[in-house]
Amino acid sequence: MNMKNIAVIGAGTMGNGIAHTFAQFDFKVSLIDVSQASLDKGMATINNNLDRMVAKEKISEADKKRTLDNISTFTSVESGVKTADLVVEAATENLELKLKIFRDLDSFCSEETILASNTSSISITQIAAATKRPEKVIGMHFMNPVPIMKLVEIIKGYSTSEETFITVEELSKKLNKVPVEVNDYPGFVANRILMPMINEAVETLYNGVAGVKEIDTVMMLGMAHPMGPLALADFIGLDVCLSILKVMYDGFKNPKYAPCPLLVNMVMAGKLGAKSGEGFYDYSENRKAEVVSSQFVK
Ligand code: NAD
Repeated sequence: MNMKNIAVIGAGTMGNGIAHTFAQFDFKVSLIDVSQASLDKGMATINNNLDRMVAKEKISEADKKRTLDNISTFTSVESGVKTADLVVEAATENLELKLKIFRDLDSFCSEETILASNTSSISITQIAAATKRPEKVIGMHFMNPVPIMKLVEIIKGYSTSEETFITVEELSKKLNKVPVEVNDYPGFVANRILMPMINEAVETLYNGVAGVKEIDTVMMLGMAHPMGPLALADFIGLDVCLSILKVMYDGFKNPKYAPCPLLVNMVMAGKLGAKSGEGFYDYSENRKAEVVSSQFVK
């Protein structure tokens, strides 16, 4: 199948990165969000990220212009997906919301359109079952920041056809990404391994074994991780980490995935990491400083 028109649902952290990447590789992209403010912010982020690439001489000014010209924005899903060969859904991680979006996509899109979700943890099989084309529904799990990270986890739902898988695998290669085939079980592969590590880092802090900086330093210098697990959790969003752990805990009924109470408390307190200005680090005044909190026992 010759893919040319791509619709991306959601212009947040992941959606704008996915739109940017497809547009940079000359696909025509419809970027769709219910919020005009999110679309404006998403386009501003794409513009800034392209500027950074131009400054580093990774792309030219002409490439930047071509990339931006390839993107159109929409606040209506129905108008945005009309001509799409592929839709990549990257809306808020919420089961009911995703089921509704996929029911709508199934009725608005042509019968040929492949419907992909960038979900971190929700079952592709369950999302596919909300449509009349489960063989054309697949997981396309990009990593953050999308224009830079090479991996795409491609998740086959129970009914995903081989043809759909091959089309999405080929397409990922055209984006200069490395696709990896994964079956549809809670957390897939990336988060099944990453989230228990992050949760254990929070538990280590919660138990008073060491402070935020110490834990991150051990993992960076001792394990050659480019970022410590607590800084990474802040970058991903503590609410996102919590919801992925809950999906794995519910899915496997195994206590090893139980979210640390400190993580639960921080999300309830609205400390969501970089996006809320505070998590394990303080991001106010455009800097990253360790949070001094009596909640973090040392
Ligand atoms: P985000 O909160 O930054 O953005 C979500 C966007 O979806 C918002 O702009 C919101 O306005 C929009 N939205 C909500 N309902 C919508 C609807 N009905 N139609 C269109 N747009 C709608 O979230 P994010 O971090 O970009 O995550 C998006 C998806 O990507 C989630 O499924 C998440 O699990 C997954 N994901 C996130 C990361 C990460 O590091 N943040 C990594 C991989 C995958």
